[in-house]
Amino acid sequence: MLDIEKIRKDFPILKRKVNSKPLIYFDNAATSQKPQIVIDSIVDYYSNYNANIHRGVHTLSQEATNAYEEARIKIQNHFNAEKSHEIILTSGTTHSINLVATGFTSFIQKGDEIIVSALEHHSNIVPWQMLCERTEAVLKVIPISLKGELIMEEFDKLLSKNTKLVFVNHVSNALGTINPIKEIIDKAHSFGAAVLIDGAQATPHIKIDVQELDCDFYVCSAHKLCGPTGIGMLYGKEEWLNKLPPYQGGGEMIATVNFEKTTYADLPYKFEAGTPNISGGIAFGVALDYMNGIGFENIATYEKELLDLATKKLLEIEGIKIYGPLENKASVISFNIEGIHPFDIGTIIDKLGIAVRTGHHCTQPIMDFYKIPGTIRASFSFYNTKEEIDIFIEAVKRARNMLL
Ligand SMILES: *Cc1c(COP(=O)(O)O)cnc(C)c1O
Repeated sequence: MLDIEKIRKDFPILKRKVNSKPLIYFDNAATSQKPQIVIDSIVDYYSNYNANIHRGVHTLSQEATNAYEEARIKIQNHFNAEKSHEIILTSGTTHSINLVATGFTSFIQKGDEIIVSALEHHSNIVPWQMLCERTEAVLKVIPISLKGELIMEEFDKLLSKNTKLVFVNHVSNALGTINPIKEIIDKAHSFGAAVLIDGAQATPHIKIDVQELDCDFYVCSAHKLCGPTGIGMLYGKEEWLNKLPPYQGGGEMIATVNFEKTTYADLPYKFEAGTPNISGGIAFGVALDYMNGIGFENIATYEKELLDLATKKLLEIEGIKIYGPLENKASVISFNIEGIHPFDIGTIIDKLGIAVRTGHHCTQPIMDFYKIPGTIRASFSFYNTKEEIDIFIEAVKRARNMLL
């Protein structure tokens, strides 16, 4: 059992008021709030040991380097990567995906096939479309059912000896669907295709073991799991990371430079050109420690209670439609109320201090599939409460009555 009142005290922002009402933050799928300990780690770095890393012999530089590299080890341990140099620190999910998509350019030929799913975030669609444009490869899409789940029989049909890459998210940010990624990875591998899993939305809720999954790449952003913005991770199997060319050239990523020939640094630095987000990396490690302290199983159990309660109460509202599965999903609810534009509900409940997301959630293909302009998305975290859900439900009812 989690002591939610105690946990809430760790998050300074949860004390604030919005439009004179206590903040109810249900936009966790867009970004999570940050505990004081994460904020403090950033202040501590800049106050006490700010220096550039990997280059100075002086004390501050070594302290900063140690803290940054310790964070990499924490990330390695959290995701159970076999080697610490399989963890590339990036600016986030989008950066990680682009790094891989660009790196594959020289391995993909005309007529090769790349499979994505209809549930993807734009950041897991556009970089692959750009790769296909560069290489004349063909992009294929795993369709979804009305319930918002991947149709696995269709995936089986898409796989062939031409399949080179498969990209799916672990959890859909728009609908909360948890995809059967282990099955997808194993099937893709049986055709010799490499698999990248977009874990941006799964990592706040589920503890990931990349060796057990056997994925080739797994990517996420720290800001969705209590860490700061501007930092994230690319896990890649060593053999792939050795094969892929560097993404950017610059300092940090070289072994030797001269005008005849430059040689690249070993992993992970080959992919880490330039001065990184040092405080962000350190804070990412602190955020993982914090979440592991609470425990991912505890988080999953509690978030499911919140999800079940909110789903049950929302379904009692007349004209409600929830998109995506009702079971076996992350704590994300996408819904609409008949006859009302999602934006109008979002605007009214913001006046009552409640933050939800309205719109297409960077997943326009899903909205097109359901033939809707967007949804209202409420997404819960372990620091939310059942009382907040009650207030939210009353607010949605009030908005509905005002708008109809
Ligand atoms: C948030 C999100 C992204 C993009 O993450 P950034 O931090 O904006 O790079 C990609 N995929 C999914 C599933 C997401 O939820």
